[in-house]
Amino acid sequence: MLKNTGRNPTASELKEAKRIASLPGHVLRGHPSAISSDKSKLAHINTYVQLPEFYIDMPFTCRDCGKEEIWKAADQKWYYEEMKGHIDARAVRCHDCRIARKENNA
Ligand SMILES: [Zn+2]
Repeated sequence: MLKNTGRNPTASELKEAKRIASLPGHVLRGHPSAISSDKSKLAHINTYVQLPEFYIDMPFTCRDCGKEEIWKAADQKWYYEEMKGHIDARAVRCHDCRIARKENNA
């Protein structure tokens, strides 16, 4: 289960997220849209993987319908640190498809 912003990103938001996501790590670290991680909240993650130092908006393509979406940095932080999500877990479905799946499973 992934928290989301409840709306679809605009074309310009997607474009900006893609541009930022393609920047090298040392640039991202100081980027205004990067959100620092709280490693004390990431203790559930095995130490053999490198813990994220920060989160950045992550553009992705929905596995079900192919629509482009953004997994927001704030939502990643919430998922990993509050929901104790697996570090390899990634958003794979858009808002609409997550809702549809939830309704189908209910
Ligand atoms: Zn979808």
